[in-house]
Amino acid sequence: MSEIKIERIKKTFDDFVAVEESDLTINNGEFFVLLGPSGCGKTTTLRMIAGLELPTSGKILLDNEDVTFLRASQRDIAFVFQLFALYPHMNVRNNLAFPLKMQKFSKDEINTRINEVANLLRIDHLLSSKVSGLAGGDRQRVALGRAIVRRPKAFLMDEPLGTLDAEFRELMCLELRKLHNNIDATTVYVTHDQLEAMSMGDRIAVMHKGRILQHGKPKDIYTKPKTKFVGSFIGSPAMNFIPVNHTIQKNQNSVKIDNEEYAVPKSFQNTSSQNNVLGVRPEKMFLSDNKGIPGEVYGSEYLGTRKILTIQSRFGTYKIRVSNDVNLKIGANVKISFDSDSAIIFDGQTDEALHSEFIN
Ligand code: ATP
Repeated sequence: MSEIKIERIKKTFDDFVAVEESDLTINNGEFFVLLGPSGCGKTTTLRMIAGLELPTSGKILLDNEDVTFLRASQRDIAFVFQLFALYPHMNVRNNLAFPLKMQKFSKDEINTRINEVANLLRIDHLLSSKVSGLAGGDRQRVALGRAIVRRPKAFLMDEPLGTLDAEFRELMCLELRKLHNNIDATTVYVTHDQLEAMSMGDRIAVMHKGRILQHGKPKDIYTKPKTKFVGSFIGSPAMNFIPVNHTIQKNQNSVKIDNEEYAVPKSFQNTSSQNNVLGVRPEKMFLSDNKGIPGEVYGSEYLGTRKILTIQSRFGTYKIRVSNDVNLKIGANVKISFDSDSAIIFDGQTDEALHSEFIN
């Protein structure tokens, strides 16, 4: 276990800023996810933590020790690039023993550790089998075992499940998370898949264009996105955005949309922003018989336990989560309203949320 701290680290490649100055503390024993779209700087951040890339400026601390200029091999961190990177001609035992032999551990210590890891990963029966003959899931476990057997201070994983099919991926997500809990490790996990991040992470940092936009517990990021980008990147279906098209005045306790008044969320704090945008999660929107935004049903997806309706209105296309009993024909005219206290008001110019928890 260990605490990883990054202080004002920045990485540029020539003139291009891959990671803007960032601060982050990853706690002892935490499963921390770096999440964001392709090219946002996740891998570069992870590589700097690993010691595979030198920051242009800033510091990296591992258990309060400054490791910024230490080589990867001196950091006691396991970087799991690809869970299938094994020696196919060797058997499982030798694959597990390899990193320990490199570190010149005694035979007894090597055997003790291999037995411990094999037991933990339920691969004891495979120790004499050749890796080339193993099924995908077993290979993945062996590769994980090879990282664990060193007992590093932290594990860094870069999209380790990227190449797997959906069903196996889901299973491996569960296994990885369970394993993390069992070995009480600190894990930093990179993914562009928000569902994977939400289901696995104790905390998530959402990155975009080299910047960490927000970090926190999955539920906090989902319910209180700090920017419009975070609101749209997290959640499936994504957050709906309703343009208010006017500036909400200080002390104003309602907003006007299509000539109807809606209460302003309690934590809303106006600054001098303009052209505000309301963000509402699909499950916080509903069909209304009274006031609401007029629209037309464009699509209806049956998802077993619920339905997702796509409604087209003059403000945009919205997805709302409704119960299975709702039977509406495509083209039906409806009105949609929303739970205004769970709405987030964003500044139309900066895309930043205007709520008390985000305003200094
Ligand atoms: P992906 O999931 O696609 O790998 P990412 O979020 O991990 O995306 P990075 O790999 O960290 O993104 O890359 C961030 C940006 O820095 C990208 O625009 C990438 O092209 C650029 N970059 C990364 N490494 C280098 C390098 N060695 N030289 C120049 N540019 C680089």
